[in-house]
Amino acid sequence: MSDCLFCKFVRKEIPTRVVFEDNFCLAFEDINPKAPVHVLIIPKKHIGSMNEMTPEDEATLGHLALVGRQIAQEKKIDQSGYRAVINTGPDAGQSVFHIHLHLLGGRTMAWPPG
Ligand code: AMP
Ligand code: ZN
Repeated sequence: MSDCLFCKFVRKEIPTRVVFEDNFCLAFEDINPKAPVHVLIIPKKHIGSMNEMTPEDEATLGHLALVGRQIAQEKKIDQSGYRAVINTGPDAGQSVFHIHLHLLGGRTMAWPPG
């Protein structure tokens, strides 16, 4: 996807504050953090949203969760708690159409979300 912002991060065409990277994913600081810890974890493969996931993406998405767990430990929010969120579509307020896992923590969060 040549015009996708997050694909441009993957290809290093636009710099971002990278937290973690491996062959399958990239994690970076959210530019407009909603909590003291707010990291976005994305697959390097372009998947527009959860609606575009296919069975072959199962392991990749599972990998995002494990990377989230590792980052939560490194950011020292694993014991206090954190939230992992994938917004999908208009009602959820998805604004970037390259699937991403929000990792949010460092403060108490309300439930249900707004
Ligand atoms: P969503 O609304 O779930 O699609 O989340 C998109 C997220 O991407 C928001 O939390 C934005 O703050 C974040 N975001 C947008 N542009 C950038 C950027 N250039 N660098 C880092 N995060 C961004
Ligand atoms: Zn993309």
